[in-house]
Amino acid sequence: MAGRMRGLRRGLFVTNVPLPLGCGAFPVTMAGSDFSICDNDRLPAHCGADTTMALSAELLRGLHRIHMQLSDLRDRLDRGPRQVKVRENNVAQLAAALAAAEDAVKQTKLATDRKQLDLRSSENKVEELKVKLNTAASNKEFQAFTDQIAATEMAGSVLADEILESFDKIERLEAAVSEAKKNHESGKTELAKCRDKVAAEGEVVRGDVARLEGELAAAEKQLPADVRVDYQRIIRSKGAEGMAEMSDSVCQGCGQKVTLQMENDLMMEKPVFCKSCGRLLYVGE
Ligand SMILES: [Zn+2]
Repeated sequence: MAGRMRGLRRGLFVTNVPLPLGCGAFPVTMAGSDFSICDNDRLPAHCGADTTMALSAELLRGLHRIHMQLSDLRDRLDRGPRQVKVRENNVAQLAAALAAAEDAVKQTKLATDRKQLDLRSSENKVEELKVKLNTAASNKEFQAFTDQIAATEMAGSVLADEILESFDKIERLEAAVSEAKKNHESGKTELAKCRDKVAAEGEVVRGDVARLEGELAAAEKQLPADVRVDYQRIIRSKGAEGMAEMSDSVCQGCGQKVTLQMENDLMMEKPVFCKSCGRLLYVGE
């Protein structure tokens, strides 16, 4: 490739490569130290292809480098808010977990309160039955009150056990609440740190983006006018992926081989777009 390029530049390259033409207009002098592609100074009607200002590989390399750097920086700018969003979601989940833990304590306390009321009324009932027992008119009535007292005391004892279990449960649930509070607080701290970091990085990256956009605008001004439209179209649709180096006769964007004609055009500093992926190609250093 390099040899061919040197050959072309010296104009020594004649036979084994298709003529690098945009039209069939002749004369073309391919031998000797001076050659022209299309003598369009004299024959402008023949050919539009060679009215193009030279499109230097160096300019295209520079443009592609800037586009890739901008793309990388913009990715970083997009990544920041996503990182913040992940932490915001995390904090929301931790807040929900805290609320659920607090609610569990509240519900268990309410249930325990109800059981304590039930226990109290069961104790009152036992007291009432004991009074009635003392006034029993018969053995049968006495036995009936005794049985009722036993049953009520049994139910009360079950309630009392349940209440004790509830106290244990409340203790465990309250421990879970303080754990959930701690997690929520550390989630919030992490979110705040992340926001600060993203804001600080964003400022630096936005500065770099602004600088590169300036460099890009300056470089794009050097593009020949008739290339600019196609260049802008491909950059709009593909971004930094709109350009690719051609090396070893292959488009490095899609891996497809380019034609000899395209290679020649590239050597002649003409705009060449990959036929399979559409990328604007340039010759590597
Ligand atoms: Zn390609």
